[in-house]
Amino acid sequence: MRTFLILLAGGKGTRMSSIINKVLLPLEGKSVIRRSAEAFHGLVDEVVVVCHETDTDRIRSEVDAASLPVSVRYATGGSSRQASVRNGLNALRADAGDIVLVHDGARCLVSPGLIRRVISSVQCNGSGIPGLQVSSTYKLCSSDGTVQQTVERSRLVEAQTPQGFLFGTLTDAFHAADLDRFEGTDDASLLEHAGFPVFIVDGEKSNIKLTTPDDMILAENYLNREKRLMRIGMGYDVHRLAEGRKLILCGIEIPWDRGLLGHSDADVALHALMDALLGACAMGDIGRHFPDTDPGLEGVSSMVLLERTMDIIRHAGYIPGNADITIVAQRPKLSPFIPAMKEKVAPALGLQPEEVNIKATTTEKLGFEGREEGISAYAVCTVRPA
Ligand code: MG
Repeated sequence: MRTFLILLAGGKGTRMSSIINKVLLPLEGKSVIRRSAEAFHGLVDEVVVVCHETDTDRIRSEVDAASLPVSVRYATGGSSRQASVRNGLNALRADAGDIVLVHDGARCLVSPGLIRRVISSVQCNGSGIPGLQVSSTYKLCSSDGTVQQTVERSRLVEAQTPQGFLFGTLTDAFHAADLDRFEGTDDASLLEHAGFPVFIVDGEKSNIKLTTPDDMILAENYLNREKRLMRIGMGYDVHRLAEGRKLILCGIEIPWDRGLLGHSDADVALHALMDALLGACAMGDIGRHFPDTDPGLEGVSSMVLLERTMDIIRHAGYIPGNADITIVAQRPKLSPFIPAMKEKVAPALGLQPEEVNIKATTTEKLGFEGREEGISAYAVCTVRPA
């Protein structure tokens, strides 16, 4: 079962009082469509972007900037949303049992958690659309402007996207709509029309469809709130000292008659730092990502592993805020090497030198570090949403 995404970028955005397509508008340094595409990173196997021919070049360069590790193709937008989705479906190379997600390109704040909920609902139930409980009271009105009925609020949800379906069901629903000349305002309504069940998963208040200039301000506020959310991670590691090994700490070779034993270069300080980074993102530990049973990692520089760790946390949507490392060693004296260590570590984390702290301590000859049997390191770091 593969998962396909139809990303709708065909709107002209006439309500945005802007002459350019609203999905090309910048939002906190990235275009709306780039943010929408990035949200699906790692969650789909193929993408079809539906847009008008006049916008294709600009939309293509924005979607390319999202660096999705899957094939991205383009289909031409139709005269209505339904026609655009149909063009997207026709461009898909999917089987009946595959999953298709249809997403409004203007809903760029969609979270990976919401996308996963939709996908698992399709896997379990055959369909899944995000629905947000409404808080206002809704009235059904007559054409003369009088209230016909107050709609029971507890049963009302606002439909969002991505809406997920089995490819076979969605194409059947489109076929039925074509036969009956039925025009829906979302994809689920075509399934409802054809008599297929549509299952609701929890939507998100921040998953707004950017339609008016006010929506852009709201979206900026949501993104700034995200930025303020800081997460903290800690890491700890120990390696044994042995003769005939180089001593490498924070990527710097320290002249000494012994070094640390390990599968990689045994840079205990960087190992603690990587565990802190992974910990802050709830992504496990370095043993999980770089097992010491991997022959390809034998003798590898931990700076290379740090680069890969940075890729992992960036893909999870985080960047480091600051880091603090403590190396515990009775000997050698490490303070002369600390400036060089900082110069090595800070750029690898994408940080300024003043955002990285490295310090060394002895244990007054107590414990295994004091007996010079090994060296340990502690690291604490913060990360924030990228
Ligand atoms: Mg280690």
